[in-house]
Parts: sequence; structure tokens; C-alpha cells
Amino acid sequence: MECTDTVVVGGGQAGIAMSEHLSQQGIPHIVLERDRIAERWRTGRWDSLVANGPAWHDRFPNREFSCDVDAFPDKESVADYFVAYAEQIGAPVRTGVEVREVVPLEGRAGFRVTTSDGLIEARHVVAATGPFQRPAIPPVVPQDAAPLQMHSNAYRNPDQLPEGAVLVVGGGSSGVQIAEELMNAGRTVYLSMGPHDRPPRRYRGRDNVWWLGVLGKWNADSPGPGTEHVTIAVSGAEGGKTVDFRKLANRGMTLLGMTAGYDAGKITFAPDLKENLDKGDANYLSVLDEADAYIARHGLDLPEEPEAREIPDDPDCVANPILELDLAAAGVGTILWATGYAFDFSWIKADTFDARGAPIHQRGVAQEHGLYFVGLPWQSRRGSSFIWGVWHDAKFIADQIAIQRSYAAYEGTARRVTEDA
Ligand SMILES: Cc1cc2nc3c(=O)[nH]c(=O)nc-3n(C[C@H](O)[C@H](O)[C@H](O)COP(=O)(O)OP(=O)(O)OC[C@H]3O[C@@H](n4cnc5c(N)ncnc54)[C@H](O)[C@@H]3O)c2cc1C
Repeated sequence: MECTDTVVVGGGQAGIAMSEHLSQQGIPHIVLERDRIAERWRTGRWDSLVANGPAWHDRFPNREFSCDVDAFPDKESVADYFVAYAEQIGAPVRTGVEVREVVPLEGRAGFRVTTSDGLIEARHVVAATGPFQRPAIPPVVPQDAAPLQMHSNAYRNPDQLPEGAVLVVGGGSSGVQIAEELMNAGRTVYLSMGPHDRPPRRYRGRDNVWWLGVLGKWNADSPGPGTEHVTIAVSGAEGGKTVDFRKLANRGMTLLGMTAGYDAGKITFAPDLKENLDKGDANYLSVLDEADAYIARHGLDLPEEPEAREIPDDPDCVANPILELDLAAAGVGTILWATGYAFDFSWIKADTFDARGAPIHQRGVAQEHGLYFVGLPWQSRRGSSFIWGVWHDAKFIADQIAIQRSYAAYEGTARRVTEDA
């Protein structure tokens, strides 16, 4: 059987970052990827997707994108970047190898890793299988109901959908970008949305990622009590622009509150649309306030931008919200669920998951000795699941593995004294 110190499962950005830091620590390892490097960027997203952050920011420290630093690279360029990065660091990635099971060894440290290409024994295992693993669709509309139901994970472009209007459920970064693309393609679009943050794309000459950085928000170490489900609506599409739901409504999109229920072809919505929009605006304006305070405090010479504070009036769909939609009467041919993802760690047979299947860990160090995670949402901070943030978390995990290796290598004073005698 093949033996190594560390098996990294997953060859996305998290697995590549992990490989870099393990190599720097001199730790023998293998990265196993069931598809290709950065496959989710390549085929797991819609065709027109570009990075949510500009090229100068959404990258690893030791390599730049070849495009303009302020541009938002398309998804193929992002995938190519990680392929090139893996080559640059000589990452020992084996593609086309699926990990089917990881089981702790009995009576000694380490794991038996069952793969599609045979067994491997490893002292440590790092699960780098992504923050977004299994598409999650809330059980609202029965599977056999009339409109096509699709998760954003499966959406590619407007031509793929059957004729008719589209109900997009979810007002985060995916939902709002897909909804706008469909509207631009001439579709009638309904967008059902919940609580959200919608930071300014740019303010006073600086991109949102810069403001998150200098205001310390990338390093926030938890989503905060009661805020776990607040999604963030940002977009790099069309060169990057602030998500403004009211402007979308003024262009013809119908906004709706949270999807609440379904009965006999009719969907109901919570009466929370205005509240959700107002809270999103409050979040937006609070970032402007903090940015202004930062500029004043540090004496920065950045241009004033008072027009950024202008919020359009409520469009009709907000003033008179639709609380029930007859799907057939509205001509809805597709319900597109942009409702996020769930974990699937069913292949790890270890006691380190809660009742919902979420990892129990501290900064990625699992409850099971020798098992680690990297790339989880909020693993150590807000930036953890993003390109630049995962690199730093991977460094921490490699350090933890090196520390455990030093403990394992220690032979004990007593034994040395005996041997010397
Ligand atoms: C629509 C969308 C847009 C995003 N845009 C940005 C952005 O602009 N900037 C940014 O910083 N972040 C962005 N993110 C967040 C994040 O960067 C991506 O989700 C990224 O793909 C996460 O990388 P990862 O390596 O952690 O996981 P993944 O890219 O999901 O990689 C995990 C890999 O593990 C493999 N795998 C899974 N199970 C197994 C197994 N059992 N055996 C072997 N291999 C396995 C998968 O094939 C996959 O290649 C975006 C996310 C989404 C959904």
C-alpha cells in the first residue's frame, strides 16, 4: 500500500494553497482531485461568471494574473491561474482520482484513504473539498410541480432555460447576477430575496475589497450573532458595479420577499421585501460612513462622492409587494434556486461533525486527531473561503501539521538516556 504523510483531498484553490505550504514545511504529501485542477471554476459555474474581486486582490501572493490589475478575470482565467500556480510550485496533484472514504486507523495514528485508484495510508488528511459542495434547494415546491426547477449550480446561460418567465430565488451574488443576465436576455424575471448586505463596488476611488481590507472586515472572525444567513450581493460583471435592487426593479425586474410556501401552483412570499431592502441599504450606507471616517482619520486625498448616497425611490413592486404568484398565470417556465450549498463530508468516517453534518473544528483543526479542513466558510475569518484568504488559512494548517510531526518525532529523554548508557 502507498504511504505518505499527508493526503490533501481536493485540487481547487484550497488544495493548491495547502500544497504550497506543506512543501515549504518539507512535508511529503499528495493532492487528490477527482476531476481537474480548479474544476468548479471551469464547469461548476455559469458561462459569463467573472471573479467578484479584481485581479490585484483575488489571487495568491506569489503570482499575478496576466490581465489588467483592476479587471475582473473570467472564470476560465481563474481556473487557468490555479493550473499555472500548481505548475509553478510543482504541486504533486493527481487528477481524476476520487477519494471515496477516509477512515481512522485502529490502534495507531493515521488514516486509511480509499480512492478510485487504490488505497493510501496517511498520517494526516486535509479535506479541501470546497465551501460549496452540495447544491441546497429548500423543500418548498414539490419536485413534480410544473415549472422546471434548477439550482444556480446547474445554470449556464439564458438559452438553456425553457421559454417563459423565470423566478430566481435568492438575492446573493449568484442570484442577482443570474437574474440580471436573464433580464438582459429579454426574459421576464421575478427575484425573491431575503436579508442581504450589498457593499458598494467602488467608493471614493477604491474597490470594495480594498475597503474590506483597510476597515478590517476581511479579518472579522465570525459572522456575528444572528447574522449567519445574511448573504452578500456583489458583482464583478460588466467591469464591476454596485448591486442596486431598486435600479434593477426600475429596469423591469419584479422584486419579491422571501419565498415562503407553495400550494396548487401558487407561490407565496413573506411581506419582508421592503425591510430586506432597507436593511441592505443601511449596510451599504454604513460602509460609506466607515470609509469616510477612515479617509478623514488618515488624511487621505480621495475624491468626494456624495452621489453614492442617493438611494432611488421605492419602485412599485416594493411599494405594493406581490405576496402570492400564480406560476402558470405569470408564465413562469423556470424556478432557479440560488439558495446556496450544503456540506457533504459523508466520505469521512470520523467523529468530528455536528448533527447537520458541519465540521466541528478550531480554525480547521478537526476534533479527530490528524484531520484538518481548509476552505470552509468562516473557517478562521470572513476571507477563509475566498481566493486570497484560503492561502493564509492553508499556511496555518501546514504549521499545525508540522507541529504535530515534531511531537510525533520526539523520542523522549528517558529513552535517550537508556540508549546512551
Ligand atoms: C458563483 C461563485 C463565484 C465565486 N467567486 C469568487 C470570487 O470571485 N473570488 C473569490 O475569492 N471567491 C469566489 N468564490 C468562492 C470560492 O473562491 C470558490 O467557491 C472556490 O471554488 C473555492 O475553492 P476551494 O478549493 O475551497 O473549493 P472548490 O473549488 O470547490 O474545490 C474543491 C475540489 O475538491 C474536489 N473534490 C471534492 N470531493 C472530492 C473527493 N471526494 N475526492 C477528490 N476530489 C474531490 C472537487 O472536484 C473540487 O475540484 C465564488 C464562489 C461561487 C459559488
